[in-house]
Amino acid sequence: MPYFADWEQTVQFHGHICPGIVVGHRACWYARSLLKLDQPSLAPTHLVVAENDLCGIDAFQLNTGCTLGNDNLIINNQGKQAFSLLEKKSGKGVRLVLHAPLWSSNEPLKLHHKFKLGTATQEEIQEFIRLRKLRGEELLKLSDEELFKVDFVQMNIPGKPRLYPAINCSRCGEQVMEPWVTERNSEKLCTSCIG
Ligand SMILES: [Zn+2]
Ligand SMILES: [Zn+2]
Repeated sequence: MPYFADWEQTVQFHGHICPGIVVGHRACWYARSLLKLDQPSLAPTHLVVAENDLCGIDAFQLNTGCTLGNDNLIINNQGKQAFSLLEKKSGKGVRLVLHAPLWSSNEPLKLHHKFKLGTATQEEIQEFIRLRKLRGEELLKLSDEELFKVDFVQMNIPGKPRLYPAINCSRCGEQVMEPWVTERNSEKLCTSCIG
């Protein structure tokens, strides 16, 4: 299985090269090769559990077909660069956790915080983007074994209903599914109208 299958498409889809997208992309293809899965979409048979909600999930969505929308990508945010690819029927699969450092120092993270808070200067933004790409390219050169610790696992992920009947909100008239409706003084209100 090629390590760099669809790398260009992954970068295009995500929008930039960064440590997270490299980790997600490599984890996805490493997990595929360990489980010998070469069908283009794994969504009919497999699901992905991501232990973060960061850049890497874009790589998984594109390269496994398991997406948030089709409910085959489960975010169980533990603040870890860990991803599991599991067969739905048996719950068996592989969990990969990054053991190479995601960043080589905390400096880019300080810049990233300023960037997100809107307090970074143009120079700081450019420097963040440069460091982000640089670390991504460094990680891309590492072997699968240098990047990840591998565990063969069995996790049974209970299915969660996501669809409910909708009613029209008494105030704005928009359709809203019942779990998001609050009754107040005989009105049925959506969360925006409840304030
Ligand atoms: Zn990114
Ligand atoms: Zn409303």
